Amino acid sequence: MELLIATRNRGKLKEIERLLADCDIVVKGLETYDGLPEVVEDGDTFEANARKKAATMARLTGCMALADDSGLTVRALGGKPGIFSARYAGEKATDADNNRKLLNDMADVPVGQRQAAFHCVMALCSPSGDCRLFEGRLDGEILLQPRGEGGFGYDPLFMVPSYGCTLAELPLDVKNRISHRGLALKKLIDHLLASH
Ligand code: IMP
Repeated sequence: MELLIATRNRGKLKEIERLLADCDIVVKGLETYDGLPEVVEDGDTFEANARKKAATMARLTGCMALADDSGLTVRALGGKPGIFSARYAGEKATDADNNRKLLNDMADVPVGQRQAAFHCVMALCSPSGDCRLFEGRLDGEILLQPRGEGGFGYDPLFMVPSYGCTLAELPLDVKNRISHRGLALKKLIDHLLASH
């Protein structure tokens, strides 16, 4: 089967492509099609945004589409940045801007109270509008300063206690095995294999 990956985030795309590499699925990126619009992420949950991105692209292209909405929630910040993770420091914020703001906002939060979690909702939608959602979550802690060069987004600040290192210090295959995105995609792949 063919599957359109409805994301313009290169970090996510790389992870999803790697995770689907062993499946009998032909993966297409948004660049396969001319003139696809930006989908405005105006939902107030990860679920609503993932569903909107995948459903819009499936309808416009006639291809099954997969979209992920994901983000970081920090307990000491009441769940922020949550669905605003990509634009925490502003509309055009870079990963570095967002990481800086996160460290500033948590400056007074002591070690031991810096619990956080990554969340991912994957939506798989058909051109006719049928959608299924799959979720994954990874718990960890926010460090006082970044560590590691891999990954993307908040990875250098996100310590995975069971590995004793940040997501940015883990090889991609290891991150994919344990991450919120990897767990959600594994459920999605199991569903595809069971239904084809
Ligand atoms: P969106 O799903 O495109 O709205 O954006 C998700 C945002 O959450 C990304 O831009 C990152 O800032 C953050 N994020 C999601 N998944 C990860 C991850 O695996 N590592 C680091 N940051 C992530």
